[in-house]
Amino acid sequence: MNRQVSFSIWYVLLAIMAVVIVHDFILALNQVEELPYSEFKRLVAEGKVAEVAVTSHMLVGTLKSEGDSKEQKAFRTVRVEDPDLVRELNQHGVTFAGVIESTFLRDLLSWIIPVALFVGIWFFIFRRLGQAQGGFMQVGQSKAKIYMEKDVKVTFADVAGVDEAKDELREVIEFLKTPEKFTKLGGKIPKGILLVGPPGTGKTLLARAVAGEASVPFFSISGSEFVEMFVGVGAARVRDLFEQAKGKAPCIIFIDELDALGKARGMGPMAHEEREQTLNQLLVEMDGFDPRVGVILMAATNRPEILDPALLRAGRFDRHVTVDRPDKKGRLDVLRVHAKKVALNPDADLEQIAAMTPGFSGADLANVINESTLLAVRRGKDQVGIAELQEAVERVIAGLEKKNRVLNKMEKERVAYHETGHALIALSIPGTDQVQKISIIPRGVAALGYTLQLPTEDRFLMTKSELENKVAVLLGGRIAEETIFGEASTGAQNDLVKATDIAKSMVKAYGMSDKLGTITLEQERQPQFLQLPVASERGDYSEETAREIDCEVRRIVDEQYGRVKQMLEERKAALHQGAKLLIEREVITGAELKAIMDVNLVEQSARR
Ligand code: ADP
Ligand code: ZN
Repeated sequence: MNRQVSFSIWYVLLAIMAVVIVHDFILALNQVEELPYSEFKRLVAEGKVAEVAVTSHMLVGTLKSEGDSKEQKAFRTVRVEDPDLVRELNQHGVTFAGVIESTFLRDLLSWIIPVALFVGIWFFIFRRLGQAQGGFMQVGQSKAKIYMEKDVKVTFADVAGVDEAKDELREVIEFLKTPEKFTKLGGKIPKGILLVGPPGTGKTLLARAVAGEASVPFFSISGSEFVEMFVGVGAARVRDLFEQAKGKAPCIIFIDELDALGKARGMGPMAHEEREQTLNQLLVEMDGFDPRVGVILMAATNRPEILDPALLRAGRFDRHVTVDRPDKKGRLDVLRVHAKKVALNPDADLEQIAAMTPGFSGADLANVINESTLLAVRRGKDQVGIAELQEAVERVIAGLEKKNRVLNKMEKERVAYHETGHALIALSIPGTDQVQKISIIPRGVAALGYTLQLPTEDRFLMTKSELENKVAVLLGGRIAEETIFGEASTGAQNDLVKATDIAKSMVKAYGMSDKLGTITLEQERQPQFLQLPVASERGDYSEETAREIDCEVRRIVDEQYGRVKQMLEERKAALHQGAKLLIEREVITGAELKAIMDVNLVEQSARR
């Protein structure tokens, strides 16, 4: 339905309601009691009626006031063909008049007043809507609002600790500033840029800063607001958004929470028709516009894995920029940015605060500074000191602890050994994915640390030994913990699930077990290989076979266990050194760890 039409229908309904209510109200103001004719005659006979007016079809009158009260009760009754009436009225001294349509004016007013009132309100609202314009404009009446900021004040200087992301976005700024330079050279212009990272790491801030740096308007809209809208409205809104943006090019369109709108189609219990339509419209718009008009689309998500693959295809959001939680130096920078507006006592050592806050996002750190100023004000100080900052950190941690993200010192140590274990195994087995970086900055709710491995090339199939190597790397974390601390922790559970799944798939789906032979025991083979396989439906086989499968899965995992255990024993010195460096720096590169490992191995063989 057309938006304007549905809007008007609401008004008409409202108006009718208002008319009915006001009408009743006016009638109720002069309460008229309805009497049966016989009752009326009785009252006349008892001399209780003061006056009567006779209209064409009823008698309207008032009763004599009773006792002290001055109130004269009004009544009405039907007019009955009654030849005795006039005589009786005379006899009991009731004043009466002939046909008077006295209610006409009142009835008329009771309809005119509400209508007039309603028209007045209508005009008032439209006048207000017309005035609602300015730098920060809201367009339309639906829930998904398009915000436009004409003159963005935020610059890169306001965003700290995300230098890699900034570097990647510099080119976009160049393009927005001087599009001619790019088009002349025929250079490829980015169209869609996806900012990926946990909440509060400054994705929105970064997008605004790009607009600020390039001095172009910034259009923004949030994906989650589309979800509850009526079918068709979201799609219209997307069309609107692009139309407006094209009119203001060069500019940036920013879609926050893209995952809410861009979930893979057909996912979830119910295919959400509205979301699909909106998503389709977005895809159409993205394909339809030529980046040379100077519109750059940016979007943010913290769950890239659930996005519809169509969104990530070439020519759409094909450029991904990771915005991660800051490391120690990054945290210091963020604290400095936010402390700029605050009067700091010389004893307020921000470096110390940065060291205290692994796992904090930019937003958390901004919150620390904010809390500390509130504390200072409460204590009547005119400067923020180290005491306030420390207490603010504790408050923010207390808030975060529920989300289980901030590690204590012991946990940090454990996670460091765990991740170094993964990384050492990956570095030691030739042909595994390269280790990019190792981090103990907690990520999301589940991962306390992570080892980032990137494939060196696109892979479409995997050999048996490659799958075994994957299992080995997954076991590396747990076995490192065992080697150093003598026991495992709960942190490795996810790794074990994945390792077992791979081993199961090897046996059941890919026929890689000598004992069970080259048969597939899975009902349905999904093309699942290069992602980590999921445990799938039980196939059609006997209990005995099931037992054999379990044995084989165990054998594969046990074999890798022994292998990894031995490798880590040999690399114990590197494990200690690597973990120590990781605790100190929170993030190290794969190359750094490899250097440590190589030196240690050379030393060891020299000693032998
Ligand atoms: P996201 O969009 O990633 O959820 P926001 O951009 O909304 O995060 O960040 C919220 C607030 O946190 C920002 O307005 C800013 O005050 C602060 N903030 C987050 N990250 C940074 C950062 N890297 N540098 C400075 N401030 C930051
Ligand atoms: Zn692990």
